[in-house]
Amino acid sequence: MRKEPKASIIFQFKTMIALKLAVVALLAVHAQSISLRQDEACTNQGGSCVNWQYYVCHGGVETGLCNGDSNIRCCLPCDDQCQADEDEWSQGDAACTAEGGECKLDSNYCDGVYEGGLCGGPAERSCCKAPNGDCPAIVSRAEWGARAPGSTTYMGNGVQYLFIHHSAGASCSTKSECIAEVKGIQNYHMDSNGWSEVGYSFLIGGDGNVYEGRGWNKVGAQTYGFNSVGYGIDFIGTFTSTNPTQAAQDAFKQLAECAAAGGYVIGDYELKGHRQTGSTECPGNTFYETIKSYPHWTNGNIGKDMTMDEETRRKYMEL
Ligand SMILES: [Zn+2]
Repeated sequence: MRKEPKASIIFQFKTMIALKLAVVALLAVHAQSISLRQDEACTNQGGSCVNWQYYVCHGGVETGLCNGDSNIRCCLPCDDQCQADEDEWSQGDAACTAEGGECKLDSNYCDGVYEGGLCGGPAERSCCKAPNGDCPAIVSRAEWGARAPGSTTYMGNGVQYLFIHHSAGASCSTKSECIAEVKGIQNYHMDSNGWSEVGYSFLIGGDGNVYEGRGWNKVGAQTYGFNSVGYGIDFIGTFTSTNPTQAAQDAFKQLAECAAAGGYVIGDYELKGHRQTGSTECPGNTFYETIKSYPHWTNGNIGKDMTMDEETRRKYMEL
């Protein structure tokens, strides 16, 4: 009889542990079921959860059915009828493709803006176009094989600055060479600097192509203190004693006009070299002299701390 309370305490203790384990297990199952439920909401409809920025879904894209960040969306299935419709509708797409656009259901991602009346099919099948005809062709992230970003911070239209950088590495003169450089820069920024994504908004190769970095309306990591009020355009190469190719410089001018025409920067935006914001050689002595004659270049340093050393600046670059 005297041992009974002790045994009962042990029993209670064991029960408590068991209950706790059960609760933990239940919570885990619950969390899993929530996550399953979300993806199931998509797969139950025959769809699949994908990063909508990289796929065109002819069946349409729906939000709120998938786990993950807001870019993971449900690509609805396109059955035989849907496929047949798509084939028929696409016969009427000439007006859109003539303007360099792409016709798709407007629930799909569009890097530019949708314009109606240029595509075959129903009204929601619309033409995704660059904001205006003056924009250069941009080699998309999908085309150059970008890694998915760790995270993305968005910013609105009408920012004040365009910043010019050089990558301080090798130049490139063909598209395949430039793609290799762009990938190398992205890897360096993500793996060595620990950033969520390639720092620059766009990169321009010696081949005269513009490569999409973070892209429009996304905060970059390139110009400490000014990432959320400007875009950073990188010229691939080292321009301390030489200038980028004419093709690259022409591509930049077109991109800058595109940025202003599309409203991404304000009409009287200011163009500056990276060195005007902090202690860096970027974009190289020779090229820096050249950009002083570019439209919208403005004199004067705007950095909050022009003496910050390279290592500290890199650490805080993503601010
Ligand atoms: Zn720079």
